[in-house]
Amino acid sequence: MLLLLTSWISRPVTSSFFKNLPSLLLVMPLLACGSQPPTSDGASSKPETRFESELMPLVAAYESDAQANAIPVSPELRSQLVQVVWQDDLGQQGDETVLGRCERMNENHPDESMRFRTVKIRKPDAAGYVGRIKVDALTLKTIVYHELGHCLHDFRGHLPEASHQIMSTALPKERFQSFHELLHQHFALLKSGH
Ligand SMILES: [Zn+2]
Repeated sequence: MLLLLTSWISRPVTSSFFKNLPSLLLVMPLLACGSQPPTSDGASSKPETRFESELMPLVAAYESDAQANAIPVSPELRSQLVQVVWQDDLGQQGDETVLGRCERMNENHPDESMRFRTVKIRKPDAAGYVGRIKVDALTLKTIVYHELGHCLHDFRGHLPEASHQIMSTALPKERFQSFHELLHQHFALLKSGH
């Protein structure tokens, strides 16, 4: 799950905002990650299959990047993914806006065909914003890759914010310098067996 720090974005643009800007930039992670997404083991029935056409190219890119980094997505987990959809509102966690969620359903079901996973991504408004944050292509890719790290590579929990990786609790600052390096670290982490 990824969260948007509303405490940052809801701050009015005033002179005190600019006075505080240097210290705010130190906590530049506009996005942070909350606790583990909810899981359900109550023998849920199969959710309707829904794949959002705007998001699926990112899923294909993730699979391709995983393959290129020698940690391909397992066919079992890929077949469990039955939804990748926009959601207008994923709610709040504390004061923070949830940006994405990976949900696992029936994950211990003895019949593997009854295990399902869904990815929900907070839909930006018509101008492309969630709060004051412009969800540009790289931000969206980072959010989707984070959720796929949970759903397609079964990464549990989160790395500390200071580690600045895709599975960190906060959006990695390094993404602005090298998404390639971020990806390299991401798949090396997944290969290590976390
Ligand atoms: Zn997460």
